[in-house]
Amino acid sequence: MRDKLSILGHYLKAKYLHRFRDRAALEAHQRRQLARFKTEVLQHLPFFADLWEKDLSSFPLTDKAIVQQNFAGLNSLALPYDVGLPLAQAREKVDGITVGLSSGTSGRRGLFLVSEEERHFWLGVMLAKALPGPLWQKHRVVLALSANSDLYTTANKNSRMRFHFLDLKAAYQDHLDTLTRVQPTILIAPAQFLKKLAQSVQAGDLQINPARIFSVGEVLSDEDRTFIGDQFHQPIHQIYQCTEGFLGITCAHGTLHLNEEYVHVEKEWLDEDKTRFNPIITDFSRTTQAIVRYRMNDILKIRQTPCACGSPLLAIEKVEGRCDDILKLPHTDQATSADFYPDDIRALILDADPSIQDFRVHQSDVDQLRLRIDSPSPTAKNKVAHALLHTIHARKAQPPTLTFDDWPPAVDLSQKLRRIVRDC
Ligand SMILES: [Zn+2]
Repeated sequence: MRDKLSILGHYLKAKYLHRFRDRAALEAHQRRQLARFKTEVLQHLPFFADLWEKDLSSFPLTDKAIVQQNFAGLNSLALPYDVGLPLAQAREKVDGITVGLSSGTSGRRGLFLVSEEERHFWLGVMLAKALPGPLWQKHRVVLALSANSDLYTTANKNSRMRFHFLDLKAAYQDHLDTLTRVQPTILIAPAQFLKKLAQSVQAGDLQINPARIFSVGEVLSDEDRTFIGDQFHQPIHQIYQCTEGFLGITCAHGTLHLNEEYVHVEKEWLDEDKTRFNPIITDFSRTTQAIVRYRMNDILKIRQTPCACGSPLLAIEKVEGRCDDILKLPHTDQATSADFYPDDIRALILDADPSIQDFRVHQSDVDQLRLRIDSPSPTAKNKVAHALLHTIHARKAQPPTLTFDDWPPAVDLSQKLRRIVRDC
């Protein structure tokens, strides 16, 4: 009961109190919250001992590696990384605080700490922003994830909100059976899984009618967004979240807005035109583990026109992918490299021939690009090669060797889909 009241309190605050008439009001709220955050949280953490009274802009930037190296100094339990890791693996709690592991693919896995109160807060805000109607409506929520998350088991206690989990490692037919039986009112899943479901709808193998559909955890391309939306006869919404926090969600107009009522976002511009940036986030809603001036690896493309909803929260055109996935080719006349953004490569390939349904690009070395093209046309590959080399030439970059592999690639729904990957 106490849990429910706590979640309800956060829900009501998020829904009715944290609304700002303009950018100035939002920024004033952020300044107040940051000041409170410094005294209530940062002052007590060793990492910020000499910093907390200073201006946020003078704090050092952090990232995954820095957080792991300084883990004990950044959390309220003073828990060292090496002590926390086995606790997380054993799914044990410390003083009621969950120690969790992020689903990272490379390097040391990210460790995170979250208290019960933070979970209630997170869930209340999520419900306020995600539910299409009022809280008292009954919902059947289906979440497709690679593993059950502790965050959501809190929610299952709420009887009006029934949560069902699909383990993406299980057989696809089982998912179709579950979805048919449950008939979700809200469906939350990675983009590639939603696309597969949309194909099943198209083939007549699945009949569900959710009130709202969210894509989460993977890049949602324009093409997939349109295709999935067409099959389900509704716009596809997005939740932008990661281990570091719940960072954004689409409004009723389908525009992704950052959750700036709770997270301060600095923009590290990636291009001269200032259209894309790396978000540097400071989550002033947290109390257990400090996420301060944390540089995310994501490329966010800013929306050039204001959203019709009128929200002063920053509007994002799209989450384009990870910085690791920017293709880098050496310049012909300089020591630097030319950057090719995933979303530009995507547009270039799909524009090369209208018959192209899907693709993969893998930069395995500075001078090697491996491609897969899904197209019935025998000339599609040539057109893609021509378009790519033309652009590479225009950017004065050294042309790589292009190799075309067969379509389809191996598919694993439980792995994050990245159409464009650089690992060199
Ligand atoms: Zn909006």
